[in-house]
Amino acid sequence: MEQGQGVLRLTPTWVPRSFCVPGRRISLHPDDYYALGGNRGGIDERWFSSTTAAGNGPLTSPNEGLSFIAFEDGGRTEKFLLRDAVAELKDQLIGARIWKEYQRWPAYSKFFDNKGPLPHHVHHRHEHAKLVGQFGKPEAYYYPPQMNNHGGDFPYTFFGLYPGVTRQQVIECMRNFEKGDNKITNLSQAHRLEPGTGWDVPPGILHAPGSLCTYEPQFASDVFAMYQSLVNDAIIPPELLWQNMPPEKKGDFDFLIEVLDWEANVDPNFAVNHFMRPKPVRSVEEMKSDGYQENWICYKSAAYSAKELTVFPGKTVTIRDAAAYGFIMVQGHGTLGVWDIETPRLIRFGQLTHDEYFVSEAAAQRGVTIKNLSKTDPIVMLKHFGPSNPDLVL
Ligand SMILES: [Zn+2]
Repeated sequence: MEQGQGVLRLTPTWVPRSFCVPGRRISLHPDDYYALGGNRGGIDERWFSSTTAAGNGPLTSPNEGLSFIAFEDGGRTEKFLLRDAVAELKDQLIGARIWKEYQRWPAYSKFFDNKGPLPHHVHHRHEHAKLVGQFGKPEAYYYPPQMNNHGGDFPYTFFGLYPGVTRQQVIECMRNFEKGDNKITNLSQAHRLEPGTGWDVPPGILHAPGSLCTYEPQFASDVFAMYQSLVNDAIIPPELLWQNMPPEKKGDFDFLIEVLDWEANVDPNFAVNHFMRPKPVRSVEEMKSDGYQENWICYKSAAYSAKELTVFPGKTVTIRDAAAYGFIMVQGHGTLGVWDIETPRLIRFGQLTHDEYFVSEAAAQRGVTIKNLSKTDPIVMLKHFGPSNPDLVL
């Protein structure tokens, strides 16, 4: 906190998924996508400002998914967990508002970089998640143009169920789960994904994320249920449907329907209600004359929010926020306060970077000064905030 004047430098947190094939758009060295061993699967996620461990099966390594802070001590770089820093510094780091309500940093973000689509799945609402000791999980997507030089195998996302679908039709699909393709996406609509835009997905809504590289702010929880049994020619095991349902509800197809927020799934205005095009945080003209542009990119949930900040070449700006946040660089280089900030083209597994930080509430409110040292290249960073950002008027 002293070294960084309230801004903590984080190290890259790579997460493998045994059921995924990496899309190779997150600047990891081509030799390192299987750095944790083939049996762990490819690395297709990088987690940001995470105090939440990855639930990755029995082979999960200690601290998987958790962000580390790096600091310099007599020429050596030392590391410790962001989770421990939050526990130690409490409101001094994340602000009294969030500490009082959660006693932890209750959100994180990630790059999700999968070559193919994911199965149609749901994250439980809180009333169903708490039956298995978990929290409901809203999530949101933004597709950074910098990370999407190709769209992967299937750059379309199914959301919900089309209007008029009946509960009986969905129950029929769930009865067929173990018979190969249960065809649940036949009851849904896919939307073409567009770099530079995003979607908001409250819990209880079915979604089958497409293969764009996705920046994904979310509430800190790992609760999910896969409702689709075959995706991209791969079978989804039934455990992934039932594992977060209470034991007495295993095999209960009516309960699977109850977990869905039915009206939200069949909403005829789904796209209008959930699609997000970036919105300027204030007058674009004023921001441009000050040397930057800042947009809300995730702004439809009270559980988290996110901004994209662009600082124009050669400019120095001071940016104030009401709440603590983490950020990841996606373009350019310069300085932020006492730190160098840059966007490495290629990162080896285990290598340190200067592209990810966490800004304490006091530092955010004081304002951080960002200098763009390039004559031609903008600085672009994505900023992830926790719940109920006071700057966000929903
Ligand atoms: Zn999801």
